[in-house]
Amino acid sequence: MPAATGFRIVAGRDADRPPAPRFAASGPTTELSERTHGVALWTTLLHLGAPDGAVARRGGKVTVLAGEIYNGAELRPLVTDDSPASDAELLLALFEVYDLHAFRLVNGRFAAFVLDGDRAVLATDHAGTVPLYATVAPGRVCAGTEAKALRNAGPGLLLPGSRPVAGLDGVHQVTAGSVLEVNVVSGAVRPHRTWTPPVHRRVMSESRAVDAVREALRRAVRTRLGDGTPLVVISGGIDSSSVAALAADASATKIDTVSMGTTESDEFPQARAVAEHLGSTHQEITIPTDRLIRRLPHAVGAAECGDPDIIEYLLPLTALYRELSGTGRRILTGYGADIPLGGMHRESRLPQLDSAVAHDMDTFDGLNEMTPVLSGISGHWTTHPFWDRDVLDVLVPLEAGLKRRHGQDKWALRAAMCDILPRETVLRPKLGVHEGSGTTSYFSRLLLDLEVPEQRVHAAKRQVTEEVFRAVVVDGRDPDEVDITDVVRRVAAARPAT
Ligand code: ATP
Ligand code: MG
Repeated sequence: MPAATGFRIVAGRDADRPPAPRFAASGPTTELSERTHGVALWTTLLHLGAPDGAVARRGGKVTVLAGEIYNGAELRPLVTDDSPASDAELLLALFEVYDLHAFRLVNGRFAAFVLDGDRAVLATDHAGTVPLYATVAPGRVCAGTEAKALRNAGPGLLLPGSRPVAGLDGVHQVTAGSVLEVNVVSGAVRPHRTWTPPVHRRVMSESRAVDAVREALRRAVRTRLGDGTPLVVISGGIDSSSVAALAADASATKIDTVSMGTTESDEFPQARAVAEHLGSTHQEITIPTDRLIRRLPHAVGAAECGDPDIIEYLLPLTALYRELSGTGRRILTGYGADIPLGGMHRESRLPQLDSAVAHDMDTFDGLNEMTPVLSGISGHWTTHPFWDRDVLDVLVPLEAGLKRRHGQDKWALRAAMCDILPRETVLRPKLGVHEGSGTTSYFSRLLLDLEVPEQRVHAAKRQVTEEVFRAVVVDGRDPDEVDITDVVRRVAAARPAT
């Protein structure tokens, strides 16, 4: 498990001990305070296991890391210190050699903070998979892995290269694949990009493309397995089944798999076929739809996103993580494969398919679909091999004809998996988690049953998720206190102005 899964940091010339932050993610917190070069640093670490290893110090510099690095083996030879004990130490050693360019080298799932004299450096991974928020004022920098942890950070300047969070004055979300360099005294901020989605496309033979996809994904799965028995959440679709197959291949012992359904709908037979093929220890979990919808405030509070379409994707998984027994599981998912491969677009014309991929890669940031907090609220840690930096660097640039080929979507991936998955899994067309679990239709029916006209259902869903966002993020309320059926009823009763 990563040493820390989240943090809230306050750094300042005259900073007093700040009030304790609130996180949606659960787990013990550890408070640290120190002073270096006249700057006080107050750190709250959120962790699942021991927090040792989340902070590194050397030569007056301090590094705090939430999350993990996947290309440590490549990076270690670059630093003079021959054995950095933790990912935070490795990051600090790299920072000493490359300064903020260190973040151009790292492939990981993290948010990081470096204090170097009067300079604070705030960094996201290439895809911002661990969200990072900041509030900056002259003399003070606050950073946190949840926006609500900065609710009381006080007034803040407008930050270039960052996105203001609706309703939380001064709080900004740091852009994916970037570093914010902040002068703690003046509050001056300089953003730097460390990764952007590739915009070029590569021409390859079928066999080279298939090998490149298989090898990149194999490596990404292997580096994410951890020490215990890995758990893969599978729908029986090609994406999660690929991850499960590669995890099973790389594990000496049986892996665990789990599939969720609701009383509305499930994909149990498809997932079971994969589990039987791989010989995994498989579990099926059915969640009643009324319980599913009661998790909506938790999904919004975890993702800190008020977009109803995203929340419909995230709700079934949030509910599933809550039903898993025990805590501290390392969970692998097939999340996100459709974005670089254009899987959501049942589109056979190549220019349109490539436009869709380019658009989706340009607009994923800020939706927080991959945030670890979704499972963190139930004490687990997720990781998504398809959004490994090296995997994206292979998938995004594949020319569109390798993504849509021989009448199949996500062709290169399907072809890469044909030896290790059942034939029907490889050929099965996509069904989204929200469709597979019946989440979308159930949420729609709730509103239709309350006489919301069909054409207003989507707008009503948006009103519901935005109202919940205000309650659990902006006002910092406990999601368990938000009566979702009451919110739905009120939104349905309010007739739009005509
Ligand atoms: P897949 O091809 O694996 O179905 P997908 O592209 O259709 O993936 P989603 O349906 O949005 O993606 O789901 C994202 C991820 O969530 C999946 O890859 C899988 O890991 C997990 N997931 C989806 N549905 C279920 C389910 N019913 N039970 C368990 N996990 C699921
Ligand atoms: Mg699916």
